[in-house]
Amino acid sequence: MSRRSNVTKGWQAPQPVKATEKTPIADEVVEEVPAACPKCHSTDREQLEGTITRNISGLSKDGRIFNRVRWAYCTCRGCGQRYRVIRRENTLQ
Ligand SMILES: [Zn+2]
Repeated sequence: MSRRSNVTKGWQAPQPVKATEKTPIADEVVEEVPAACPKCHSTDREQLEGTITRNISGLSKDGRIFNRVRWAYCTCRGCGQRYRVIRRENTLQ
């Protein structure tokens, strides 16, 4: 009997594992807008919060590839200003 695999059509193999111990995701920040506090221009800020990420790919202003975009808020350590940041990242997938 030479029966072909009976796997249901349309079933798709799962995507390759994104992050394992062997293949850590290389998160590279390609671009961050704004790069500094719009008020005092300090780049010293708290961690990003309220993050939304989308798998969107494109090229940054200086021609580097990104494949993930993150929208978030952060608080400036210099003046306490809270502002929105758009961060474009390149991750291994
Ligand atoms: Zn500031």
